[in-house]
Amino acid sequence: MRIAISGAGPGGLYTAALVKRLQPRSEIDVWEVNAPDETFGFGVVFSEGALGGIEAADPALFAALDAECAHWSRIDVHHRGRTSRNGGYRFSAIGRRALLAMLRERCADLGVTVRHGTRAPEADVLARTYDLVVAADGVNSATREARRAQFGTETTRRGSRYLWLGTERPFTALTFAVAETEHGTLHAHAYPYAPGLSTFIAEVDDRVWEAAGFTEGDITVPDASGRSDTDRLADLFADVLDGHALRTNRSRWDRFVSVRNRQWSHGRIALLGDSAHTTHFSVGSGTRLAMEDALALALALDDHGSVPEALAAYQAQRLPEVEAMQRTARTSQEWFEELESYADLEPEAFNAHLITRSGRLTRDDLASWPPERVERVRERFARADRSARGSAVR
Ligand SMILES: Cc1cc2nc3c(=O)[nH]c(=O)nc-3n(C[C@H](O)[C@H](O)[C@H](O)COP(=O)(O)OP(=O)(O)OC[C@H]3O[C@@H](n4cnc5c(N)ncnc54)[C@H](O)[C@@H]3O)c2cc1C
Repeated sequence: MRIAISGAGPGGLYTAALVKRLQPRSEIDVWEVNAPDETFGFGVVFSEGALGGIEAADPALFAALDAECAHWSRIDVHHRGRTSRNGGYRFSAIGRRALLAMLRERCADLGVTVRHGTRAPEADVLARTYDLVVAADGVNSATREARRAQFGTETTRRGSRYLWLGTERPFTALTFAVAETEHGTLHAHAYPYAPGLSTFIAEVDDRVWEAAGFTEGDITVPDASGRSDTDRLADLFADVLDGHALRTNRSRWDRFVSVRNRQWSHGRIALLGDSAHTTHFSVGSGTRLAMEDALALALALDDHGSVPEALAAYQAQRLPEVEAMQRTARTSQEWFEELESYADLEPEAFNAHLITRSGRLTRDDLASWPPERVERVRERFARADRSARGSAVR
C-alpha cells in the first residue's frame, strides 16, 4: 500500500510509524512544511493513563517518552494568594519538540521518508498515485478547508483569547492560577515539562484584554509605557511565577478554534488529529487524541482488505470517542469562560468548583482506555513484530 501523509505533527508521524510496523511492505511518504526543529508551543500534558494505547502499541517508544516526560501527581489551584493542593493524580508532560524528535527517529528507523521544509502536494494530485492520503495538517488544514462540504466541516473561533507561553519557573503541579485586576480576572494553566521548563498558557476575555492594554501586535515589543504583553502578564502573575520571565515560541494571542467534521474521509483522503477535531487545551487531550486516531487508522488498514472499508471502520470507532471527549472539553472551556462569576468564592470553595468544573466534570470523563482494549493492541503489535523478525531471519 502507498500512503501519503501531509503534516509531520504527532498525528502524521505516529500514523506513519504504526502503519509501517503492521505493514512493513507499505510505502509511506510524509511532507512537513516546517524544518525539523521548527514547531509552535511548549510542553503538552497527558492525563492519567492517556498513553495506555501508545504503551501497548510501542513499548520501546513509550519507555523513551516516559523517560523524557516530567511527572507529577498534584493539581494546584492558586487563588487570592492561597494555593490549594489536590493530590492523587498521575500526569506527565513532554516538550512538543522532544516528542516530535522521538517520533521522527522512530519513522527514520522504520524507513519512512519525511520531507521537511516542503508543503505537501494538493491532496487530489496525491490521490492519483497513492492508495491513501492522510491529512494530518493540523487545525487549519488546507486539505479540509478545500473540501468543507464533503467533510461536513464546522469550525468556530470563539471565546476568550489565549497565549501559549513558556517559563523557567519549575512548577511542580498542574497549576491553575487566577490574577484579579482592577479590570477583571485573567487565569493561567501551567505545568512542568522538562527540567527547569514549564508551559504557561494565559487566558483572558475580550473586555479585560482590552482594558488591561494587551495588543494584537508583537507580544514581545514594549509599548509607550515600556512594557510588552509578556512583561505585563509576568507582572500580573508575578506571585505564581515567583519572579520568572515568560518565554515565547511563535506565540500570539488567539482564540480556541473548535473543529468538527461529520465525515472523516472523502474518497481516498482521510482527516486525522486536529484537522478532524479539536478539544480545548484545558483538558490537555489533543495530542493524545491525534495519536489514538493514528492507532485506530493503522489497525483498520491492517484489518480491512480495502481502503474504503478501513476508512469506514476508522470513523466508526473514533468519531463517537472523540465526540465524547469534545463534550467534556466544552464543559471545561465554558467553566473557564465563566470563571469571573466564581472568582469571589473563598479559595477552598473555588478550588472544589474548579476541580470538578462545578460538578460537571469527573475524573472518569478524562479516563483512558479499558485494560482489555490495551491488551488487544499490545498483542496485535507484538505479533506484527514477531512476524517481521521471522521474515528478517528467513
Ligand atoms: C494552547 C494549546 C495548548 C495545548 N496543550 C496541549 C496539551 O497540554 N496536551 C495535548 O495533548 N494537546 C495540547 N494541545 C493540542 C495539540 O497541540 C494538538 O492537538 C496536536 O498538536 C495535534 O496534532 P496533529 O498532528 O493533528 O497536528 P499538529 O501538531 O498541528 O501538526 C500538523 C503539522 O502539519 C504541518 N502542515 C500544515 N499544513 C501542511 C502542508 N500543506 N504540507 C505539509 N505540512 C503541513 C504543520 O506544520 C504541522 O507540523 C494544545 C493546543 C494549544 C493551542
